[in-house]
Amino acid sequence: MIDFTDKGLYCAAGRFYIDPWQPVDKAVITHAHSDHARAGSRSYLCHHHTLPLLQLRLGPGSYQGLAWNETIDMDGVKVSLHPAGHIIGSSQVRVEHKGEVWVVSGDYKIENDGLSGAFEPVCCNTFISESTFGLPIYNWKSQSAIFYDIQNWIRNNQLDGKTSVLIAYSLGKAQRVIKAVEEVTGNIFVHGAIWNVHQTLLQQGWNLPAVQRITPETSKDEYKGSLVVAPPSADGTPWMRRFAPYSVGICSGWMQVRGHQRRRNADEGFVLSDHADWNGLIQAIKATGANKVFVTHGFQSAFSRFLMEQGIEAAEVKTEFGTEEEEAQFEAGASEGKSSETEQTKTGAS
Ligand SMILES: [Zn+2]
Ligand SMILES: [Zn+2]
Repeated sequence: MIDFTDKGLYCAAGRFYIDPWQPVDKAVITHAHSDHARAGSRSYLCHHHTLPLLQLRLGPGSYQGLAWNETIDMDGVKVSLHPAGHIIGSSQVRVEHKGEVWVVSGDYKIENDGLSGAFEPVCCNTFISESTFGLPIYNWKSQSAIFYDIQNWIRNNQLDGKTSVLIAYSLGKAQRVIKAVEEVTGNIFVHGAIWNVHQTLLQQGWNLPAVQRITPETSKDEYKGSLVVAPPSADGTPWMRRFAPYSVGICSGWMQVRGHQRRRNADEGFVLSDHADWNGLIQAIKATGANKVFVTHGFQSAFSRFLMEQGIEAAEVKTEFGTEEEEAQFEAGASEGKSSETEQTKTGAS
């Protein structure tokens, strides 16, 4: 029912693509991260919460929003969206045709973060799953434990007269940590990329703490003891100098592996991810009851082999979706050198 083509996942019966990586006529979008939501398509269908984020990132165009569990008919194929728990608006796409059901997960997370909607297991014959953290070493602590660590780290930095600089992806992770530190500091400064997302969400009525945008005019004294939230693209650049003295903490699932933290020169690594860990992936897949699983972006070969050993028919599929780290690079392109995206928007949105 869904084919893996060089433009992306394609449903021929319904004549639409899901998260295509090249411009197409009809794109169904799981979520607004740039490796899943690319510019240039004629029309976009996504969840209501994703729509303003898509507009922010892709510019003007033809967008249609759906509620979760609302069914739309596309050339006789039934399509509906279901919470994926990854970031605000992130959805799994359920596709039904002639009694057969496929579900495309997009990116997903099992733990409910209070913003993204609770991951909903959807029964299907075939499930297409991501595998970003599909190795047994990836085993998350509860987010409340991680938030406790982050809060203590900020308090200690305050005692030392240091600015706390948290590195977090501008869409998803940043909103989670900003909400989590509200009780420790009311003094939150954010990078422009995070500011743009924050303003869009506030306009949509999301209840997020007040933040201040970092500008060249902000005086150095204001940063003392405060929290700064910046995207990975800003880490290690001269832009950071204004915060000195500061301590850098990185929020990422990759921080589970100590080598990553050392390589990225972080003072502190917080293992906080917007993706399911190893057990989360297995739990989600079993809950679908699917008898066939396609495994995409991540550790797809190791993870599909493991599923086979469990008696689940599985195959790995090559896609052009990024890993969590590559997502950050996409973000850097989206917030700084906008040129290529803008060009594509011009040709696609008429
Ligand atoms: Zn994502
Ligand atoms: Zn992804």
